[in-house]
Formats: sequence, C-alpha cells, structure tokens
Amino acid sequence: MKKTLIIGAGPAGISASLYLARSGKTEVVVVTNGASALAKADKIENYFGFAEPVSGKELLENSRKNAERLGVCFLDTELIDLQVNMEMRFEALTADGTKDTYDAVLIATGSARKTPKIEGLSALEGKGVSYCAICDAFFYRNKDVVVIGSGEYALHEALTLTPTAASVTILTNGVKPEFSLPEQIHCDTRKIKAISGSGRVEKIIFEDGSEQAAAGVFIAIGTAGSTELARKIGAPVDGKVIITDENKATAVPGVYAAGDCTGGLLQVSKAVADGAIAAMSMLRFFS
Ligand SMILES: Cc1cc2nc3c(=O)[nH]c(=O)nc-3n(C[C@H](O)[C@H](O)[C@H](O)COP(=O)(O)OP(=O)(O)OC[C@H]3O[C@@H](n4cnc5c(N)ncnc54)[C@H](O)[C@@H]3O)c2cc1C
Repeated sequence: MKKTLIIGAGPAGISASLYLARSGKTEVVVVTNGASALAKADKIENYFGFAEPVSGKELLENSRKNAERLGVCFLDTELIDLQVNMEMRFEALTADGTKDTYDAVLIATGSARKTPKIEGLSALEGKGVSYCAICDAFFYRNKDVVVIGSGEYALHEALTLTPTAASVTILTNGVKPEFSLPEQIHCDTRKIKAISGSGRVEKIIFEDGSEQAAAGVFIAIGTAGSTELARKIGAPVDGKVIITDENKATAVPGVYAAGDCTGGLLQVSKAVADGAIAAMSMLRFFS
C-alpha cells in the first residue's frame, strides 16, 4: 500500500483525494491549515450540480465529508517542511511536530500568498531577499540574516538558518509572535519601514528610524505557500505558479501540483479537474 500526501483541502486537494482513496492503492493523508479560497465565496452559481446558488463553505464541508466517508485522513495543521530523501520518498513535517514519509505528494495549496508590502522588498528579490531557507542558507554562511514572519513557519525557517548564519533574527513586523523562542534566535516585533541596499540587501530600516544590518532577508509570512514548498523539493516555479506538465506532474518524480497554485483559470471547476488529473497521474506513477 502506497502512502500519498495531499497539501491543502480546497477543491483541488479534495477532488484528488477522492480518486486516490477510491483506487484502493494508496493511503491518503490531507494536511490542511486555514481556509480555502472557496470558504470566502458567499455564493457559487457557476459550478455544476446545484439548482440554486450554494455557499463556498457548504460546498467544501460536503466535499470533505464525502472524502472522509471514503477513508481519507485529514490533519488540520500546517505543513512547514518537505524534503526528498535518498530513497526518493518525501519527508513531511507539520507545525505540531509530526514527521511522516510519503511515496508521492500533491501540492494543492491554492494561489501563492501575498508578499508583505515593504519598501524595497520586490526590487531586492534574488538579491538578498529569499523565500526558502533550505534552498539559500548556504549563501549566507557566517552572515547576519533576518526572517520576516510571526508563525511556526517563520520559526522553522529561522531554525534552518541558525547552523550556518552568524545570527538570525525573526522580525514580526508589528505582530505578536505565535511561537516560543529558542535561545539562539532573536526576535524583534518592531514595524519595518524598508529593506535597503544598493544592488543587494544591506539593512532593515524600522518605522522608528533605527536600522539593523542584514545580508539576507527570508520571507516566511503565515503558512508555507505553494511556491516555497515546491522550491524546497526542487520543483521549478514561474513567479507565483508551480510549473507542471499536462498530467499535473512537476519536474520532480512523485511530486504533482493542482488547482490555483498552478495558475490558469482560478475557478472551482478547473481546480476540481486538476485534482482528478493529478490523482490519475499519481496512480500511474505507483503502478
Ligand atoms: C471571494 C472569492 C469568491 C470566489 N468565487 C468563485 C466562484 O463564484 N466560482 C468559482 O468557480 N470560483 C470562485 N472562487 C475561486 C475558487 O475559490 C478557487 O479557484 C478555488 O478554491 C481554488 O482551489 P484550490 O484547491 O486550488 O485552492 P484553495 O481552495 O485555496 O485551497 C488551498 C488550501 O491549502 C491550504 N494550505 C496552503 N498552504 C498550506 C500549508 N503549508 N499547510 C497546510 N495547508 C495549506 C489552504 O489553507 C487552503 O485550505 C472564489 C474565490 C474567492 C476568494
């Protein structure tokens, strides 16, 4: 029996889980944290099967109940790390500290999260501003770095950087931290005005006018988003979307992506179709 991880319980993730569970070939675990975009939709009237408009919340709840009835296991927690091991299996870590290993992964995490509106951030992306600690930690050996974020994901990124960086500070940008801080990491809650540097990140400027030198800025707001997770396991991304082929496969064998995180039409019908296509591809991957 194979083991499949689906990240995200929106239309794409749940749709895939139905096909996978019904195949009888794989145990299916869906890790999900926070509301699907669909939960924000008051009325849906452009989706198949309803005589009257249906609320997004109701559509989601019914879909999840159907998946649970078929044996899909839902874990209501955040996925904060994903790595591929020597046997080409996938090691997943959730915010509650649980680690597990899977044979295949579907990223169905919805559209990429917005980056914080901080002056200088977008201009310095790739020039000291990074979205993936495990990918870029090496470039900041013995350098001072900051992580911008306030949740478990920010803490995880900071802990990834501590073995190599000279110092790691989490900047919560005015938000109360949601974690207890280990000794080796500093935390500063002041509001950030700008990230500054000529050609590369050099410092953070706070709203109170003070400054902190930093060679690297790692963005880790909220949960680990689609492109961050894809980058961690080496799946190519294009801006804010994960690149897949027509079977919803990424360039990494065993890793698939579906729904809004792959771009195109950002609608329920497309997300559901993507999930079905990805599930069928995963079943072929297992056979
Ligand atoms: C206000 C609004 C109205 C809309 N109206 C319509 C409409 O009328 N018709 C229509 O067809 N579409 C509509 N849409 C679009 C539709 O909701 C989306 O296209 C659809 O929900 C995309 O599905 P998805 O499964 O790709 O992603 P999502 O539904 O966004 O689900 C992704 C899930 O992954 C979870 N997740 C993300 N990162 C992690 C992590 N690290 N760990 C664990 N879980 C994670 C998220 O919390 C979320 O639950 C609307 C969207 C909005 C916001």
